[in-house]
Amino acid sequence: CGIVGYVGERNSLDVLMGGLRRLEYRGYDSAGVAVVDDDGAMETAKRAGKLKVLADELERNPLHHGGTGIGHTRWATHGGPTDRNAHPHLGDEGRLALIHNGIIENFSELKEELLAEGHSFESETDTEVAAVLLGREYRAAGDLRTAFRNTVSRLEGAFTLLAVHRSEPGVVVGARRNSPLVIGLGEGENFLGSDVAAFVEYTKSAVAVGQDQIVAITADEVVVTDFAGEPVEFESFEVAWDA
Ligand code: GLU
Repeated sequence: CGIVGYVGERNSLDVLMGGLRRLEYRGYDSAGVAVVDDDGAMETAKRAGKLKVLADELERNPLHHGGTGIGHTRWATHGGPTDRNAHPHLGDEGRLALIHNGIIENFSELKEELLAEGHSFESETDTEVAAVLLGREYRAAGDLRTAFRNTVSRLEGAFTLLAVHRSEPGVVVGARRNSPLVIGLGEGENFLGSDVAAFVEYTKSAVAVGQDQIVAITADEVVVTDFAGEPVEFESFEVAWDA
């Protein structure tokens, strides 16, 4: 029920865990993160239970500290609250990680299509279908933004989605339909969140992503388009928050 994304110079894991903590008030049953370093090494960790369970796991098995990452707290709708069903979900043979809040209504028909093509699944979630589909589209398009656009255009329902790919370290892509997504604008760093609480500690300058829009952030660039890839103008606002 919470989403955080980060690209910049900070230790992304700290930003993600801090952001998820600030989103805890929304309620959740599992949590997970994926981080990518400059060389394209990606690591993920995910656990059913409170953030503390994930934090303890990260203490026992630390991840290397990439500057790009995504973090998620889950409120299970499809598939029980287990480690395996926790997000991120992987696609493109483990080269990409994806997180999702919401419900993908047409997931069973997409899953059948992907199964028929020989793809396999590790979880019972609707979300993993989007991860595997993104992997297939990445193989076809060879770039994350195009692949992401082709993926979200196939999805029905409600979703805030974020994804990272090992071949494009330093980029987080996101999209939203019937579910919120906000950009946090920094200096040499940028943030994404399901709500401004995810990044308000670092920046008060925010952009609300519109319905059926896609965003790609790097450390020094934010690009917003519609699902067809047409650029969209956006305006920032100041978050009124005494943190
Ligand atoms: N439908 C997804 C799942 O059950 C996402 C739930 C959420 O919004 O956290 O995994």
